[in-house]
Amino acid sequence: MENKICQHEEYEIISAMPEAKIIRCRECRLVLALKENGAKPDEIYQNFYAQENASRFNFWMEFIIKTFRFWRAVKIAWLKPKAKSILDIGSGRGWMLYFLQKYFKFKTAAGTQISQAAYEFSREKLKLEIYNQDLLSIDWNKNFDLITLWHVLEHVKSPEAYLHKIQELLKKDGLLVIEVPNYNSWTSVLTKKYWLALDLKHHLTFFTPATLTQLLQKYNFKVKSIGTFSLEYSAFTSTQSLVNLITRMDNYFFEWLQKGGFNLKIMAHLVLFSILFPICLIINLILYFSCKGEVINIVAQKNDG
Ligand SMILES: [Zn+2]
Repeated sequence: MENKICQHEEYEIISAMPEAKIIRCRECRLVLALKENGAKPDEIYQNFYAQENASRFNFWMEFIIKTFRFWRAVKIAWLKPKAKSILDIGSGRGWMLYFLQKYFKFKTAAGTQISQAAYEFSREKLKLEIYNQDLLSIDWNKNFDLITLWHVLEHVKSPEAYLHKIQELLKKDGLLVIEVPNYNSWTSVLTKKYWLALDLKHHLTFFTPATLTQLLQKYNFKVKSIGTFSLEYSAFTSTQSLVNLITRMDNYFFEWLQKGGFNLKIMAHLVLFSILFPICLIINLILYFSCKGEVINIVAQKNDG
């Protein structure tokens, strides 16, 4: 089995799609995408960012994303005010690390990034300490106060190997922050194969609050907080998934955000989007204290005991 992620043997098939079979481990309940002949990670992520300027969207979208990266830096600084070192695994273009170094007195702000364009951007433009390698192939002799993975763990072949390595890299009482899509979210359940965060081109593992908590405990982390709301992802993911379901099309609006251009179809999608977006925002706010929101955001502490 190519993408065997947990060590158990018995799986049930939840759904079979052309790109992948979605299977669930009968033992640990982890949900995996099993791809027959998927491309290698290097190939998939080389075109994730534009070659020339490492952008993904137009100017205004990029500006909004940058604002959200500043917000991440604020949250990190607030979580561990005395922290001086951080490792961001799958560090995007490095904006959060840049802000932490510039405004929050972080001495070490390191990242890993396998996409060449984003790697060069963060090293050359933002002057950050970034490694153009998979976490598992890096030999470090240093430890970090904080390690973060923002929408990364669902992409990697072996989340368990990652957690094992992170455990070694964290300082005593160090914090691990993970955000991934929530497979138990209300739109995942409602829209199934139209769920935006299914993203079978990139995603390999699907977590629920229960399975991610269990995995962290297995690797000796103590879960300190768990939430399922994200200002950046929740309303957008819900809306795009509902629009997908209604129009029976995959992520037309989301892809338009990256490509641009105008036609009648995008006008119709824009109208649907603007009607559903505020409704979805309200639903996600109402679901704030449930575990049905679009992301899982977990803060866990290294357990030395
Ligand atoms: Zn399992």
